[in-house]
Amino acid sequence: MDTKLLINGEFTAGTETAETILNPRTGETVLELPEASTDQVDAAARAAAAAFEGWSRTTPAERSAALLRIADRIEAEAEAFGRLEALNCGKPINAAIGDEIPAIVDCYRFFAGAVRTLHGPVAGEYMAGHTSMIRRDPVGVVASIAPWNYPLMMMAWKLAPAIGGGNTVVFKPSEQTPLTALKLARILAEELPKGVVNVVTGRGETVGNALIHHDAVDMISLTGDVATGKKMLQAASKSVKRTHLELGGKAPVIVFDDADIDAVVESLKIFGYYNAGQDCTAACRVYVADKAYDRLVADLTSAVEGIAYARPDDTENEIGPLISRRQRDRVASFVERARELMHIEITTGGATHGDNGFYYRPTVVAGALQEDEIVQREVFGPVVSVTRFSDVDQAVDWANDSHYGLASSIWTRDVGRAMATAARLRYGCTWVNTHFMLVNEMPHGGLKQSGYGKDMSIYALEDYTAVRHVMIKH
Ligand code: NAD
Repeated sequence: MDTKLLINGEFTAGTETAETILNPRTGETVLELPEASTDQVDAAARAAAAAFEGWSRTTPAERSAALLRIADRIEAEAEAFGRLEALNCGKPINAAIGDEIPAIVDCYRFFAGAVRTLHGPVAGEYMAGHTSMIRRDPVGVVASIAPWNYPLMMMAWKLAPAIGGGNTVVFKPSEQTPLTALKLARILAEELPKGVVNVVTGRGETVGNALIHHDAVDMISLTGDVATGKKMLQAASKSVKRTHLELGGKAPVIVFDDADIDAVVESLKIFGYYNAGQDCTAACRVYVADKAYDRLVADLTSAVEGIAYARPDDTENEIGPLISRRQRDRVASFVERARELMHIEITTGGATHGDNGFYYRPTVVAGALQEDEIVQREVFGPVVSVTRFSDVDQAVDWANDSHYGLASSIWTRDVGRAMATAARLRYGCTWVNTHFMLVNEMPHGGLKQSGYGKDMSIYALEDYTAVRHVMIKH
């Protein structure tokens, strides 16, 4: 297993306190990983700064070729990457290998193509005797900081547009899930000039904090919690670094009375619980029209009872455990507080599972009201709340009544109603009659406290490049 940091093309062990990396399925220790020191973070940031001069001058075709090689190498080792991700995160092996790795490979390939299409508006004479043109140039050194829910995928979303755009990067995975990033570091060291990508591991308050305050860093890119995003903004304000923030979510799902309830239930069973609900777009906050409410709760409850988890044969599992004991206990405490409310019924789940690992049973919280904590706050676990609504305005108001603004969905057979409702939702994405579908060509990102950075798509490439004006006097 790869355990060393990548700094300036060299592999070196972290020298500070060791973090215990756990297998969430069993709670057992996988390994102890010493985190990077402040000096090592400094060396990584300086290496990225030194590499910028050369890398930023490569042609889009050269950077595209590097991204394609990285994609091919990940694909060639898809099974090994998938197994390592499953080990570190507790993901079912089929999900890790079958769902995530192909999307990751496609991300690098998408940006390999996209970087060759970047252009500004046509040059023109906006002042007599002068020609103006627009350039899109790299920002500089990007401090890239990722969460634990999709470690290798978040790395792809951050690295591909950043290095594709000509930037250099210091990447820090979550202290809980560094293993696939360290494995990918081997490939990056072989496929990229030294210093273009550096990988340092460790906790947010130590390694992350040193990185985001570093003078050589021009841009901070975070996927993580809202509270962590605010710390990024504080750090960025000191030297006016650019920021790219992808923060939490609490996705509303509006089910109108004409919706295909069987399809809604089948989808909620998947998209409310995928990755054990540790997903910022999870379909976790369901609003159902009066007429459809009873049937939806009954059918969803029995569907969720059928979700396969914690089976000895992992190929049968649809979801895994939570990432840590702490996260499992946090999820449990949300459900316990909801259970105390008279109007709430936990129709299935509502308990931890087994003594080994960090499992929480897939849970349906019925009868939730708009002001309830379970409706308002991000649980980040396999828990879906269901709330009854009486008219469209109420559903839209409640859906928008959130600090978050990442993802949402509408379920109806009436295309006019779908379009009119989608236009009123304040979310970065609205799906109609589906949920959770991401493609590398389309942007993923939020409004409000979900942040404003766009991942995937040409918009991510724009986020990781700066618009510049060059004017020539005739
Ligand atoms: P987190 O904010 O605790 O940690 C994210 C990363 O930030 C980690 O690498 C962590 O070490 C680092 N960090 C923490 N404090 C830091 C500091 N002071 N300075 C520098 N770095 C610091 O989030 P998490 O618990 O790993 O992930 C779950 C959160 O991420 C959820 O809120 C979830 O909604 C969000 N998330 C959002 C998206 C999205 O696309 N919007 C995707 C996945 C996860």
